Amino acid sequence: MKLWQEKLRKIDPYVPGEQSDAPDLVKLNANENPYPPSPRVQALLQQTDTSGLRLYPDANGRNLRGALARHFRLSTDQVFLGNGSDDVLALAFQAFFASDQPILFPDITYSFYPVWCSLLRVPFERVPLRDDFTIDPRAFDRPNGGVIFPNPNAPTSLGVGLDVIEDILRHNQDCIVIIDEAYVDFSTCSCVSLLGKYDNLVIVQTMSKSRSLAGLRIGYALCSAELASVLEAVKNSYNSYTMDSIALACGTASVEDDAYFRETCAKIIATRDRSAGQLRALGFTVLPSQTNFLFATHQRRPAEEIFTALKAQNIFVRYFRQPKIDNYLRITVGTDAEMNRFFTALGQIL
Ligand code: PMP
Repeated sequence: MKLWQEKLRKIDPYVPGEQSDAPDLVKLNANENPYPPSPRVQALLQQTDTSGLRLYPDANGRNLRGALARHFRLSTDQVFLGNGSDDVLALAFQAFFASDQPILFPDITYSFYPVWCSLLRVPFERVPLRDDFTIDPRAFDRPNGGVIFPNPNAPTSLGVGLDVIEDILRHNQDCIVIIDEAYVDFSTCSCVSLLGKYDNLVIVQTMSKSRSLAGLRIGYALCSAELASVLEAVKNSYNSYTMDSIALACGTASVEDDAYFRETCAKIIATRDRSAGQLRALGFTVLPSQTNFLFATHQRRPAEEIFTALKAQNIFVRYFRQPKIDNYLRITVGTDAEMNRFFTALGQIL
Protein backbone atom coordinates (compact mmCIF):
# COMPACT_ATOMS: atom_id res chain seq x y z
CA MET A 1 0.00 0.00 0.00
CA LYS A 2 1.29 3.50 -0.86
CA LEU A 3 1.55 6.01 1.98
CA TRP A 4 -0.99 8.39 0.45
CA GLN A 5 -3.51 5.55 0.30
CA GLU A 6 -3.54 5.45 4.08
CA LYS A 7 -4.68 9.08 4.07
CA LEU A 8 -7.72 8.48 1.86
CA ARG A 9 -11.10 9.00 3.53
CA LYS A 10 -12.75 5.70 4.40
CA ILE A 11 -16.51 5.97 4.60
CA ASP A 12 -19.55 3.71 4.25
CA PRO A 13 -21.89 5.75 2.04
CA TYR A 14 -25.68 5.78 1.89
CA VAL A 15 -27.01 3.24 -0.63
CA PRO A 16 -29.94 4.54 -2.73
CA GLY A 17 -32.63 2.29 -4.24
CA GLU A 18 -31.48 0.18 -7.18
CA GLN A 19 -32.17 1.37 -10.75
CA SER A 20 -32.69 -0.62 -13.96
CA ASP A 21 -33.37 0.05 -17.65
CA ALA A 22 -35.67 -2.99 -18.06
CA PRO A 23 -38.66 -1.83 -20.16
CA ASP A 24 -41.19 -3.79 -18.07
CA LEU A 25 -39.78 -2.60 -14.72
CA VAL A 26 -42.25 -1.90 -11.91
CA LYS A 27 -40.19 0.36 -9.67
CA LEU A 28 -41.57 0.36 -6.13
CA ASN A 29 -38.24 0.72 -4.30
CA ALA A 30 -37.40 4.45 -3.99
CA ASN A 31 -40.65 6.05 -2.83
CA GLU A 32 -40.91 7.96 -6.09
CA ASN A 33 -44.28 9.29 -7.25
CA PRO A 34 -45.85 7.22 -10.06
CA TYR A 35 -47.65 10.24 -11.56
CA PRO A 36 -46.01 12.99 -13.67
CA PRO A 37 -45.39 16.44 -12.16
CA SER A 38 -47.94 19.24 -12.58
CA PRO A 39 -48.80 19.97 -16.24
CA ARG A 40 -47.58 23.51 -15.50
CA VAL A 41 -44.05 22.11 -15.14
CA GLN A 42 -44.33 20.47 -18.58
CA ALA A 43 -45.66 23.70 -20.14
CA LEU A 44 -42.87 25.72 -18.57
CA LEU A 45 -40.15 23.37 -19.83
CA GLN A 46 -41.60 23.52 -23.35
CA GLN A 47 -41.47 27.32 -23.32
CA THR A 48 -38.03 27.59 -21.72
CA ASP A 49 -35.59 29.74 -23.69
CA THR A 50 -32.27 27.93 -23.32
CA SER A 51 -30.28 31.13 -23.94
CA GLY A 52 -31.05 32.01 -20.31
CA LEU A 53 -28.87 29.09 -19.24
CA ARG A 54 -25.71 31.15 -19.93
CA LEU A 55 -26.49 33.13 -16.77
CA TYR A 56 -26.00 31.94 -13.20
CA PRO A 57 -29.25 31.16 -11.39
CA ASP A 58 -30.60 33.40 -8.62
CA ALA A 59 -28.40 32.31 -5.71
CA ASN A 60 -31.16 33.37 -3.30
CA GLY A 61 -33.97 31.56 -5.17
CA ARG A 62 -36.30 34.45 -4.37
CA ASN A 63 -39.24 33.38 -6.60
CA LEU A 64 -39.43 29.83 -5.32
CA ARG A 65 -38.89 30.90 -1.71
CA GLY A 66 -41.68 33.47 -2.16
CA ALA A 67 -44.05 30.85 -3.62
CA LEU A 68 -43.31 28.45 -0.73
CA ALA A 69 -43.70 31.26 1.82
CA ARG A 70 -47.16 32.09 0.40
CA HIS A 71 -48.10 28.40 0.36
CA PHE A 72 -47.16 27.92 4.04
CA ARG A 73 -48.14 31.46 5.19
CA LEU A 74 -44.60 32.19 6.36
CA SER A 75 -42.23 34.98 5.41
CA THR A 76 -39.73 34.48 2.58
CA ASP A 77 -36.79 34.72 4.97
CA GLN A 78 -38.13 31.63 6.80
CA VAL A 79 -37.58 29.45 3.71
CA PHE A 80 -34.23 27.91 2.79
CA LEU A 81 -33.71 25.98 -0.49
CA GLY A 82 -31.42 23.09 -1.36
CA ASN A 83 -30.57 20.59 -4.05
CA GLY A 84 -33.01 17.98 -2.75
CA SER A 85 -33.77 17.63 0.94
CA ASP A 86 -30.64 15.47 1.31
CA ASP A 87 -28.64 18.64 0.55
CA VAL A 88 -30.73 20.68 3.00
CA LEU A 89 -30.27 18.01 5.70
CA ALA A 90 -26.51 17.72 5.13
CA LEU A 91 -26.24 21.53 5.48
CA ALA A 92 -28.48 21.50 8.55
CA PHE A 93 -26.21 18.91 10.22
CA GLN A 94 -23.27 21.28 9.62
CA ALA A 95 -25.21 24.38 10.70
CA PHE A 96 -26.89 23.02 13.83
CA PHE A 97 -25.17 19.86 15.07
CA ALA A 98 -21.66 21.19 15.69
CA SER A 99 -21.51 20.18 19.36
CA ASP A 100 -19.58 17.56 21.35
CA GLN A 101 -22.84 16.10 22.63
CA PRO A 102 -24.41 13.26 20.62
CA ILE A 103 -27.34 14.04 18.37
CA LEU A 104 -30.33 11.72 18.79
CA PHE A 105 -32.39 9.87 16.19
CA PRO A 106 -34.50 6.68 16.28
CA ASP A 107 -32.73 3.33 15.93
CA ILE A 108 -34.88 2.60 12.89
CA THR A 109 -35.01 5.61 10.61
CA TYR A 110 -33.62 7.21 7.44
CA SER A 111 -30.25 5.53 6.97
CA PHE A 112 -28.60 8.73 5.70
CA TYR A 113 -28.46 10.27 9.21
CA PRO A 114 -25.59 8.10 10.53
CA VAL A 115 -23.74 8.58 7.22
CA TRP A 116 -23.76 12.40 7.58
CA CYS A 117 -22.68 11.97 11.22
CA SER A 118 -19.71 9.93 10.15
CA LEU A 119 -18.82 12.25 7.22
CA LEU A 120 -19.08 15.38 9.38
CA ARG A 121 -17.76 13.73 12.57
CA VAL A 122 -20.94 14.47 14.53
CA PRO A 123 -21.37 12.10 17.52
CA PHE A 124 -24.76 10.38 17.65
CA GLU A 125 -26.90 7.99 19.70
CA ARG A 126 -29.73 5.87 18.40
CA VAL A 127 -32.90 6.13 20.46
CA PRO A 128 -34.80 2.82 20.49
CA LEU A 129 -38.31 2.77 19.06
CA ARG A 130 -40.93 0.82 21.01
CA ASP A 131 -41.49 -2.80 19.94
CA ASP A 132 -44.39 -1.72 17.72
CA PHE A 133 -42.02 0.76 15.95
CA THR A 134 -43.69 3.84 17.48
CA ILE A 135 -41.64 6.74 18.83
CA ASP A 136 -41.40 7.10 22.62
CA PRO A 137 -40.97 10.83 23.32
CA ARG A 138 -39.43 10.05 26.74
CA ALA A 139 -36.52 8.30 25.01
CA PHE A 140 -35.36 11.76 23.83
CA ASP A 141 -35.10 13.07 27.42
CA ARG A 142 -31.32 12.82 27.70
CA PRO A 143 -28.43 15.22 27.15
CA ASN A 144 -27.93 15.78 23.44
CA GLY A 145 -26.49 18.06 20.77
CA GLY A 146 -29.68 17.99 18.70
CA VAL A 147 -32.62 15.82 17.67
CA ILE A 148 -33.73 14.65 14.23
CA PHE A 149 -36.38 12.23 13.03
CA PRO A 150 -38.74 11.94 10.09
CA ASN A 151 -42.47 12.38 10.65
CA PRO A 152 -43.89 10.14 9.29
CA ASN A 153 -40.86 7.94 9.97
CA ALA A 154 -39.13 5.92 7.26
CA PRO A 155 -39.04 3.04 6.59
CA THR A 156 -41.70 2.28 9.23
CA SER A 157 -44.32 4.57 7.56
CA LEU A 158 -45.70 5.53 11.01
CA GLY A 159 -46.51 9.11 11.95
CA VAL A 160 -46.88 10.79 15.33
CA GLY A 161 -49.31 13.58 16.21
CA LEU A 162 -48.46 17.19 17.01
CA ASP A 163 -48.79 16.37 20.73
CA VAL A 164 -45.77 14.03 20.53
CA ILE A 165 -43.70 16.53 18.49
CA GLU A 166 -44.57 19.28 20.94
CA ASP A 167 -43.70 17.06 23.89
CA ILE A 168 -40.24 16.40 22.38
CA LEU A 169 -39.79 20.12 21.62
CA ARG A 170 -40.79 21.13 25.15
CA HIS A 171 -38.20 18.73 26.63
CA ASN A 172 -35.46 19.77 24.16
CA GLN A 173 -35.38 23.56 24.18
CA ASP A 174 -31.58 23.95 24.31
CA CYS A 175 -30.85 22.30 21.00
CA ILE A 176 -32.17 22.34 17.42
CA VAL A 177 -34.93 19.82 16.67
CA ILE A 178 -35.22 18.88 12.98
CA ILE A 179 -38.41 17.21 11.77
CA ASP A 180 -37.85 15.61 8.37
CA GLU A 181 -41.25 15.85 6.68
CA ALA A 182 -40.29 14.09 3.42
CA TYR A 183 -43.58 12.13 3.45
CA VAL A 184 -45.83 14.55 5.31
CA ASP A 185 -48.15 15.28 2.37
CA PHE A 186 -49.46 11.70 2.60
CA SER A 187 -50.30 12.18 6.28
CA THR A 188 -52.44 14.65 8.17
CA CYS A 189 -49.85 16.05 10.50
CA SER A 190 -47.36 18.70 9.44
CA CYS A 191 -45.79 20.68 12.28
CA VAL A 192 -45.52 23.94 10.31
CA SER A 193 -48.09 25.41 12.72
CA LEU A 194 -45.55 24.98 15.57
CA LEU A 195 -42.97 27.28 13.96
CA GLY A 196 -44.47 30.37 15.60
CA LYS A 197 -44.16 28.75 19.01
CA TYR A 198 -40.73 27.03 18.94
CA ASP A 199 -37.77 28.97 17.55
CA ASN A 200 -35.51 25.88 17.75
CA LEU A 201 -37.68 23.91 15.29
CA VAL A 202 -36.50 23.22 11.73
CA ILE A 203 -38.82 21.45 9.28
CA VAL A 204 -37.35 19.90 6.14
CA GLN A 205 -39.55 18.98 3.18
CA THR A 206 -38.97 17.77 -0.38
CA MET A 207 -40.58 18.02 -3.82
CA SER A 208 -39.28 14.51 -4.66
CA LYS A 209 -42.27 12.57 -3.33
CA SER A 210 -45.59 14.43 -3.28
CA ARG A 211 -44.67 16.76 -6.17
CA SER A 212 -43.15 14.11 -8.49
CA LEU A 213 -39.92 16.10 -8.95
CA ALA A 214 -37.25 13.69 -7.61
CA GLY A 215 -35.27 14.18 -10.84
CA LEU A 216 -34.99 17.95 -10.35
CA ARG A 217 -33.64 17.79 -6.77
CA ILE A 218 -35.64 20.37 -4.81
CA GLY A 219 -35.80 20.42 -1.03
CA TYR A 220 -36.34 23.17 1.52
CA ALA A 221 -36.24 24.00 5.19
CA LEU A 222 -38.89 26.02 7.03
CA CYS A 223 -37.70 27.64 10.26
CA SER A 224 -37.09 31.00 11.93
CA ALA A 225 -35.40 33.70 9.84
CA GLU A 226 -32.43 33.47 12.22
CA LEU A 227 -31.90 29.74 11.60
CA ALA A 228 -32.50 30.13 7.85
CA SER A 229 -29.74 32.75 7.70
CA VAL A 230 -27.32 30.29 9.34
CA LEU A 231 -28.23 27.67 6.71
CA GLU A 232 -27.63 30.33 3.99
CA ALA A 233 -24.23 31.15 5.47
CA VAL A 234 -23.19 27.47 5.55
CA LYS A 235 -24.45 26.93 1.99
CA ASN A 236 -22.64 30.03 0.76
CA SER A 237 -19.46 28.69 2.36
CA TYR A 238 -19.31 25.78 -0.05
CA ASN A 239 -21.52 26.46 -3.12
CA SER A 240 -23.63 29.56 -3.81
CA TYR A 241 -25.58 27.89 -6.61
CA THR A 242 -26.94 24.62 -5.26
CA MET A 243 -30.23 25.21 -7.13
CA ASP A 244 -30.17 25.47 -10.92
CA SER A 245 -32.44 27.90 -12.76
CA ILE A 246 -34.63 25.15 -14.29
CA ALA A 247 -35.26 23.58 -10.88
CA LEU A 248 -36.08 26.99 -9.39
CA ALA A 249 -38.63 27.76 -12.13
CA CYS A 250 -40.24 24.30 -12.19
CA GLY A 251 -40.47 24.19 -8.39
CA THR A 252 -42.34 27.51 -8.44
CA ALA A 253 -44.74 26.24 -11.13
CA SER A 254 -45.43 23.13 -9.04
CA VAL A 255 -46.13 25.03 -5.80
CA GLU A 256 -48.54 27.31 -7.67
CA ASP A 257 -50.63 24.33 -8.84
CA ASP A 258 -52.25 23.31 -5.59
CA ALA A 259 -55.21 21.51 -7.19
CA TYR A 260 -53.02 19.02 -9.09
CA PHE A 261 -50.88 18.44 -5.99
CA ARG A 262 -53.91 17.62 -3.83
CA GLU A 263 -55.39 15.37 -6.52
CA THR A 264 -52.25 13.20 -6.94
CA CYS A 265 -51.69 12.91 -3.18
CA ALA A 266 -55.31 11.80 -2.75
CA LYS A 267 -54.92 9.19 -5.54
CA ILE A 268 -51.80 7.76 -3.89
CA ILE A 269 -53.47 7.64 -0.47
CA ALA A 270 -56.47 5.78 -1.97
CA THR A 271 -54.21 3.25 -3.73
CA ARG A 272 -52.13 2.88 -0.55
CA ASP A 273 -55.13 2.06 1.61
CA ARG A 274 -56.57 -0.37 -0.94
CA SER A 275 -53.14 -2.06 -1.30
CA ALA A 276 -52.73 -2.38 2.48
CA GLY A 277 -56.02 -4.31 2.57
CA GLN A 278 -54.88 -6.58 -0.28
CA LEU A 279 -51.57 -7.28 1.48
CA ARG A 280 -53.40 -8.19 4.70
CA ALA A 281 -55.63 -10.55 2.75
CA LEU A 282 -52.46 -12.29 1.49
CA GLY A 283 -51.22 -12.90 5.04
CA PHE A 284 -49.08 -9.79 5.60
CA THR A 285 -48.97 -7.68 8.72
CA VAL A 286 -48.96 -4.08 7.42
CA LEU A 287 -48.12 -1.04 9.52
CA PRO A 288 -50.76 1.75 9.28
CA SER A 289 -48.95 3.92 6.73
CA GLN A 290 -49.10 7.70 6.60
CA THR A 291 -46.66 7.79 3.68
CA ASN A 292 -46.50 6.80 0.00
CA PHE A 293 -45.12 3.36 0.90
CA LEU A 294 -46.17 0.30 2.90
CA PHE A 295 -44.01 -1.51 5.45
CA ALA A 296 -45.09 -5.12 5.69
CA THR A 297 -44.01 -8.54 6.91
CA HIS A 298 -45.49 -11.90 5.90
CA GLN A 299 -46.62 -14.34 8.56
CA ARG A 300 -44.84 -17.32 6.96
CA ARG A 301 -42.60 -16.39 4.02
CA PRO A 302 -39.27 -14.59 4.71
CA ALA A 303 -39.15 -11.05 3.32
CA GLU A 304 -35.84 -11.58 1.55
CA GLU A 305 -37.26 -14.55 -0.35
CA ILE A 306 -40.26 -12.50 -1.55
CA PHE A 307 -37.98 -9.58 -2.45
CA THR A 308 -35.75 -11.82 -4.58
CA ALA A 309 -38.69 -13.54 -6.28
CA LEU A 310 -40.30 -10.19 -7.15
CA LYS A 311 -37.00 -8.88 -8.47
CA ALA A 312 -36.72 -11.87 -10.80
CA GLN A 313 -39.94 -10.57 -12.40
CA ASN A 314 -38.58 -7.00 -12.65
CA ILE A 315 -40.71 -5.80 -9.75
CA PHE A 316 -38.42 -3.86 -7.41
CA VAL A 317 -39.32 -3.25 -3.77
CA ARG A 318 -36.91 -2.35 -0.94
CA TYR A 319 -35.45 -4.81 1.55
CA PHE A 320 -33.13 -3.80 4.43
CA ARG A 321 -30.83 -6.50 5.85
CA GLN A 322 -30.81 -4.76 9.22
CA PRO A 323 -31.65 -5.85 12.80
CA LYS A 324 -35.35 -5.62 13.77
CA ILE A 325 -36.56 -5.01 10.19
CA ASP A 326 -34.89 -7.79 8.20
CA ASN A 327 -38.20 -9.59 7.76
CA TYR A 328 -39.99 -6.54 6.33
CA LEU A 329 -40.50 -5.19 2.83
CA ARG A 330 -40.91 -1.50 2.00
CA ILE A 331 -43.25 -1.22 -0.95
CA THR A 332 -43.71 2.16 -2.66
CA VAL A 333 -47.28 2.87 -3.75
CA GLY A 334 -47.42 2.91 -7.56
CA THR A 335 -50.30 3.50 -9.96
CA ASP A 336 -53.28 1.15 -9.72
CA ALA A 337 -51.99 -0.68 -12.82
CA GLU A 338 -48.52 -1.12 -11.27
CA MET A 339 -50.02 -2.37 -8.02
CA ASN A 340 -52.17 -4.84 -9.96
CA ARG A 341 -49.03 -6.27 -11.59
CA PHE A 342 -47.33 -6.38 -8.20
CA PHE A 343 -50.25 -8.24 -6.63
CA THR A 344 -50.51 -10.74 -9.49
CA ALA A 345 -46.82 -11.59 -9.11
CA LEU A 346 -47.05 -11.64 -5.32
CA GLY A 347 -50.05 -13.98 -5.41
CA GLN A 348 -48.10 -16.41 -7.62
CA ILE A 349 -45.00 -16.25 -5.39
CA LEU A 350 -46.98 -16.94 -2.22
N1 PMP B 1 -35.70 12.20 4.14
C1 PMP B 1 -36.24 10.98 4.07
C2 PMP B 1 -36.86 10.40 5.30
C3 PMP B 1 -36.23 10.26 2.87
O1 PMP B 1 -36.74 9.03 2.81
C4 PMP B 1 -35.65 10.85 1.71
C5 PMP B 1 -35.65 10.11 0.40
N2 PMP B 1 -34.62 9.19 0.25
C6 PMP B 1 -35.08 12.12 1.84
C7 PMP B 1 -35.14 12.77 3.05
C8 PMP B 1 -34.36 12.78 0.71
O2 PMP B 1 -35.15 13.12 -0.38
P1 PMP B 1 -34.66 14.14 -1.50
O3 PMP B 1 -33.16 14.34 -1.33
O4 PMP B 1 -35.00 13.49 -2.78
O5 PMP B 1 -35.40 15.41 -1.26
